[in-house]
Amino acid sequence: MPEDVLQTPLQYLKGVGPRKAADLKKAGLHTVEDLLFRFPMRYEDRSRMQPIIGLRPGQMAAVGGEVLSAHLQQTRRAGFRLFTALVQDASGQVQVVWPNQAFLKDVIRPHQHLVLFGKVELWGSRGLQITDPEFEIVDTVPDPSEAPTGQPHEQLHTGRIVPVYERTGSVTTNMQRRFVWQALHQLPETLFDPVPQDVLTAHHWPPRRAALLQAHFPASDVPVDALNRFETPAQRRLIFEDFFVFQSGLALRRHENAQVNKARVCHVTDDVRAAARAVLPFKLTPGQRDAVAEIVADMQRTWPMQRLLQGDVGAGKTIVAVLAAVVAMENGYQAAFMAPTEILAEQHYRTVMKWLDGTKYRVRLLTGRVTAAQRRDLLPAIERGEIHFVIGTHALVQEHVTFNALALVIIDEQHRFGVIQRGTLAAKGGNPDVLVMTATPIPRTLALTECGDMDVSVIRGLPPGRKPIRTIVKPDSRRDEVYALIRQEVARGRQAYIVYPLVEESEKVDLRAATAMAEELTRVFPEFTVALLHGRMKGGEKDTVMRAFASGQLHVLVATSVVEVGVDVPNATVMVVEHAERFGLSQLHQLRGRIGRGDYESTCVLVYQAPWSDDARERLKAMASTSDGFVIAEKDLQIRGPGDFFGTRQSGLPQLRAGDLTRDADLLEQAFNEARARVEEGRLTAAQIDYVRAVWQRQFGLITVG
Ligand code: ADP
Ligand code: MG
Repeated sequence: MPEDVLQTPLQYLKGVGPRKAADLKKAGLHTVEDLLFRFPMRYEDRSRMQPIIGLRPGQMAAVGGEVLSAHLQQTRRAGFRLFTALVQDASGQVQVVWPNQAFLKDVIRPHQHLVLFGKVELWGSRGLQITDPEFEIVDTVPDPSEAPTGQPHEQLHTGRIVPVYERTGSVTTNMQRRFVWQALHQLPETLFDPVPQDVLTAHHWPPRRAALLQAHFPASDVPVDALNRFETPAQRRLIFEDFFVFQSGLALRRHENAQVNKARVCHVTDDVRAAARAVLPFKLTPGQRDAVAEIVADMQRTWPMQRLLQGDVGAGKTIVAVLAAVVAMENGYQAAFMAPTEILAEQHYRTVMKWLDGTKYRVRLLTGRVTAAQRRDLLPAIERGEIHFVIGTHALVQEHVTFNALALVIIDEQHRFGVIQRGTLAAKGGNPDVLVMTATPIPRTLALTECGDMDVSVIRGLPPGRKPIRTIVKPDSRRDEVYALIRQEVARGRQAYIVYPLVEESEKVDLRAATAMAEELTRVFPEFTVALLHGRMKGGEKDTVMRAFASGQLHVLVATSVVEVGVDVPNATVMVVEHAERFGLSQLHQLRGRIGRGDYESTCVLVYQAPWSDDARERLKAMASTSDGFVIAEKDLQIRGPGDFFGTRQSGLPQLRAGDLTRDADLLEQAFNEARARVEEGRLTAAQIDYVRAVWQRQFGLITVG
């Protein structure tokens, strides 16, 4: 690594002691590079020095002049002292006041030259004053028209366009400004640049060192608005760099994968095609057909498939997966279908058995409910290859099963597959093809970061004949109308979900707990059966309740958000979400996806408790206005930001430093394309590849790329 200076730990900067280093670390800033890639949150123009005579009350102003006099004044309020200075420039004089900063008497003295930036106020009989300004003592007050470009001049906090950083623990914005400035000065004249020269040339982007200087200490002639929109060439270049290095890592991983020879390559003959057609229960939608084509093409390649199948809830991903399994089985291989819960595994098993009824394929279910005795027969049979298709829960299939000729692994409903965890999945003997299916539509920009090393198939839209779901938003005060709706639907033989955000009443938060609600509903609907399902129940208990609901024995299911994951109860036509204002958009969309699965009209009621935030109002409005999961996902990303999109910070989503997935989507797209093309065509230099590897190593530890 030629980048030793950038990798210097921050405690080696002057002024960063152990305490500040620890605070910076907490914010993810370990090295000089981390610090330099943490952009200011905004910029302030303190460069245009104003003549004192022209100051107006209420404005933020930068002035420069000589100190005529300075005093520490006692005020009438005990213990409260003002330090005041009279400052004069060529046009006039102004009083400058620092409340409660007695130490300034040893800092600011007559005849010094000061540059100040602060608020101009009208203060009773004293007239105009500048209150509590930032200041710097300078040798001579600079003439702003001569402000140097590119090179930081000696003033940090005033008399220039000033970067404003988010405070981190004990490290104030001013301290950070000093650290950044110090770090910039220690950079060698030329820095290794991971961004290819032709990209820089094409965009007229500055080289790396200059970009870092300009992004933190811009020249005075750079428009502040452009800086605050992060649109200057220096900023864009660094954001691109951030994306490009990360995308290069993903592209290298993908490329590496393409060098792996999988043990079982599938072939598609007319017989295989006929076999697949024979199991088709309905006509595929165009989206499904394309997805099948992409998957089957991957299966015929020499390297293992790593494909993500995205499709909204109910888009029909299951048949796509099963057709892929048929291709594998027709080639004499085995397939595994892994679901996150037992209920889902059983649901898939029933569906698959129905579709594959009368075929020669031997399909078995493998969940915790399979007895030890049954398992003693089943596992050896799988190992001998007598079972062709195993459907089960992730844990069981991954940990306990040895296959004879596993060609295809299907992973369903993975919300939290991160770039990092996913590596382990493919490890199962012979490098099988892996198809990951998700019902959480992922915005394009997030898909590029989370899954940039995978190939992605998207099924848009729903199969024909689906009844649209009516979505209504109601305040808690109109709960009676909600009960009336439930009563009416249950009387017609339908079922209802009522979902709560939490299990137990918290003392602090005014939350109607699901538990209390289930009891109330039992009183409200004495003629119906009501049951409770919550996250603290044991797996077995949960399954019992869920099964009772699925079989129609229960009319109303009161649940915490555990029903989120893919259960299929076509008879359920009402989804009431309590405290809807507390749910994220994607979560609401998932919940709504539980209904509208049968032949009946369905209604989703979003019940909110006032007062609601603007964000909440916007979310619920979005829910009522569209049912397109991809539109909702984009909106969700906008409102919540990428870190929270998957509802967990542990999603494996790498922390991007300078880039913002919403603001900089165009740069991400470019970085993705450039990185993939350069890696595929072998156009990255050895130094660039080394650099990418080192960054990945540092940021993701054990993960290796390329
Ligand atoms: P998801 O993508 O959420 O897993 P499923 O695979 O469970 O969706 O499909 C949802 C429902 O739509 C199932 O009942 C399935 O049989 C049905 N289905 C899927 N594709 C089609 C199609 N092309 N035509 C008609 N019904 C379909
Ligand atoms: Mg599904």
